[in-house]
Formats: sequence, C-alpha cells, structure tokens
Amino acid sequence: MRLILLGAPGSGKGSIADMIQQKYNFPKISTGDLLREAVKRQTEIGIKASAQLGKGKLVDDDIVIALLKERLSQDDCRQGYILDGFPRNVSQAVNLKVINEQKNEIVFFIETSEEVVIKRIMSRLTCSSCGAIYNIYTKPPKNNLVCDVCGGQVGQRQDDKPEVISERIRTYHKDTLPLVAFYESSGHFYRIDGNGTRDEVFAQIEHVLDKAMFRKGPVKDQDSL
Ligand code: ADP
Repeated sequence: MRLILLGAPGSGKGSIADMIQQKYNFPKISTGDLLREAVKRQTEIGIKASAQLGKGKLVDDDIVIALLKERLSQDDCRQGYILDGFPRNVSQAVNLKVINEQKNEIVFFIETSEEVVIKRIMSRLTCSSCGAIYNIYTKPPKNNLVCDVCGGQVGQRQDDKPEVISERIRTYHKDTLPLVAFYESSGHFYRIDGNGTRDEVFAQIEHVLDKAMFRKGPVKDQDSL
C-alpha cells in the first residue's frame, strides 16, 4: 500500500506515520527527516537544501524529488510505504504518480484547527539524531532531553520557533492545500479529524486500513492498493 499523509505542519502526520509503521510494517518516509539528515551529513543535496530548510519555505522540487526517488527505490519500500510530508505541492504529486507508475495511493487528509496546530508545534520536541517526536506536556522524554529511542539529544527544531511557524502555515495554505482538490476525486481519499488525541486520530486511520487489508470495506480496486 502506498499511503500519503496530508496535513498542516503540526497536524500530527509524523506521529501518526510512526503508529502506522508500527502496526502495519510499512516504512515511514519523511522528506523533512531525509532533508535534515542530508544537511547533517553535508551531502551534495544537503548543501543545496540547507539554505532553504528551516525558513518555513519549501525546498526546491528537484532536490526533494531526487531524494524521495532514491529512498523509494530501496528494497523495504517494495510492499508499500507511508509518506509524511510529500507531496507538498501539485507538481510533486504529479511526479509521484510517475514514480508510482500510476498505481493507487491512499490519501489521508488530517484536518486540524489552526489553534491546535500552533499549540502542538510550540510544545513539540524532536530528537536531532533519529527524528523521534516528543511533546513537552503530553509525551516528554523519560530522561530529561535524552531520546528514549536512540539516546540522542532532544530539543526544539529550528523551524518550530514562533518566527518561522507563521511562514510554514502560509506556505501550507498556498502550496499544499490545493492537493485536497487534486486527490479528492481519486476514490481513495479520506478526511480524518486530527484535533483529538493521537489514539483517536489513529483509530480513524486504522478503521480504513483494516478494512482495506481484509478486503471488506469501501476501498475500491483493492488488489492494486
Ligand atoms: P512539518 O510538516 O511539521 O512542517 P517537516 O519535517 O515535514 O515538518 O518539514 C520541514 C521542512 O522541510 C519544511 O518546512 C520544508 O522546508 C522542507 N520539506 C519537507 N518536505 C518537503 C517537500 N516535500 N517539498 C519541499 N520542502 C519540503
């Protein structure tokens, strides 16, 4: 299954992708994580992306598409994957269709109020090594700012600072929201209420995926999912 999570920054895509990965075993692919990793390792792509990353604007399509294509060609993606943060504009969605050879994609649009999104981003902490996501109030790391998963350093992401958040939300409205119209008529598009707890949001997605897996539900053309 090729799963796409659409939603505003802070809508919970990353946390929900982790939960889907854990239950269904598809790899989570976050273009934000791939870009941050490339910057950290100072690869050619990382050097190109570093000027744009962290400012709230989108990194150039050719950079992100090259990175994604390389990742999707790896063996663990053969049975499917969960995309978190890609596509982020219509041109990326069209390119993804080509990469996927027009096979079906299941799209979850996680809808959240702006108030919820801002609150979540302001209280989010991220591991700088493995990208694990925490929340100051609801899910702090067990041992101060040490990552529970890898022992790396946990802190606030550069673009989770107030001065960058409004730019990210503006970019989302301008570039990413048009994807709702792009995917809405595809037959595999699901609106998810993203304002609840992680478990409440995940339950809605589980409902759709379990039905698709066991071939009982409303998802059409199941053989090709
Ligand atoms: P969030 O979804 O919370 O904004 P991400 O980790 O997905 O966080 O993205 C962080 C930054 O990485 C974005 O603001 C953008 O600069 C860049 N980025 C991630 N994915 C893409 C993409 N598909 N296209 C262009 N830029 C991207």
